[in-house]
Amino acid sequence: MANRYDTILIRYGELSTKGKNRKDFIKRLETNLKRSLSEYPKLTYQRTFDRIYIKLTDENPEELKEIISKVFGISSFSFTEKVGSDLDKIIEASLDYAKSLKEAKTFKIIAKRHDKSFPVNSDGINRAVASVILKNTDHKVDVHKPDFTIQIEVREDATYITTEKIPGAGGYPTGINGKVLLLLSGGIDSPVAAHELMKRGLEVEAIHYASPPYTSENAKQKVLDLARLVSVYQGQMRVNIVPFTDLQLEIYKAVGDSYAITIMRRMMFRIAEIFARKNNCIAIATGESIGQVASQTLESMAVINEVITIPVIRPLVCMDKLEIIDLSKKIGTYELSILPFEDCCTIFDPKNPVTKPRHDKCVELEERFDYQSLIDKCMQRIDNVVVYSKKEKEIFL
Ligand code: ATP
Ligand code: MG
Repeated sequence: MANRYDTILIRYGELSTKGKNRKDFIKRLETNLKRSLSEYPKLTYQRTFDRIYIKLTDENPEELKEIISKVFGISSFSFTEKVGSDLDKIIEASLDYAKSLKEAKTFKIIAKRHDKSFPVNSDGINRAVASVILKNTDHKVDVHKPDFTIQIEVREDATYITTEKIPGAGGYPTGINGKVLLLLSGGIDSPVAAHELMKRGLEVEAIHYASPPYTSENAKQKVLDLARLVSVYQGQMRVNIVPFTDLQLEIYKAVGDSYAITIMRRMMFRIAEIFARKNNCIAIATGESIGQVASQTLESMAVINEVITIPVIRPLVCMDKLEIIDLSKKIGTYELSILPFEDCCTIFDPKNPVTKPRHDKCVELEERFDYQSLIDKCMQRIDNVVVYSKKEKEIFL
């Protein structure tokens, strides 16, 4: 059957959401699938209440498999052969497949009769198919540990014959739970945070603070490349680039060494909040993890967080660095993340950053300069880029 696949069957399992939510879930999943598979315009889609079917033409199944296994909201999927709901046709296709597996010794048939008007029940289909395979091949039945399994789903419109169940990425279809604005740097953590957010059904838009000429064009390109790598999980991603140099220089002039990072991060949060509210993002998100660096002690996080009221999501907050690294390897961002680059935080790297910044001290330091007008300037000069998983399709707005 390997070359007779004609349909991909997408399962989303038992959803906890009901009614309208369920409908939205399925619709969104279909949209996301279409977006991720936009390079394959000949595919056609059919959506039912518990499955999505994708009809193939001459696409490469391995390429499709790799893309579909990254789409959130799918519990599993299979390449199937679609035949008429007719016992002879079902037997013929199953036998062809069994014959093609010369190395295998044992098999199992799992038939499911969804269409109750089909004249043979599930058990009857199992027996009928198995007996023909037993007669015409050397294969034996083993219901516990078979070398291969043939699943037969009899539905009203057709019967789907499936052999391999490929695990899906799980989670919710990206975007179903709203949009967040992620602070994306060129490091290891924030791209992993993007993946975790998307998995919970959140659409991720990114904001990046660049400080040219202290940060290079390459550093910005690295961030865009990282965004592109994680954009495969939602089809595309908008990256907003904030020209941060002037504000950053003023911070260092006004507040001195030890509080510089704290104040800088308060400014980043202020800008992110304004931008998020203007662009329909319900929350902002970061790749912070407790205690990782001076600005990520709980005290620092509290003092940085107090300048805004929009919710902040920190998907990695309680993870160890090693766990985060493992995840970044799994999602394919690690190798790029570890390439050296200048970040706006590393340029003005203070020797003794405060680990327990005080609220009153921050307020006092911020009174020393007119940060609001500098923030306004940043807001006016934000640039954006939409990245796609395929580089050549990048669009500059
Ligand atoms: P990462 O590996 O994600 O860069 P990090 O361990 O280097 O994180 P920090 O540099 O303190 O930690 O940054 C903490 C978080 O702040 C990052 O995960 C990211 O969400 C955000 N951040 C840091 N620098 C920038 C930047 N230049 N632009 C946008 N967001 C940033
Ligand atoms: Mg960083």
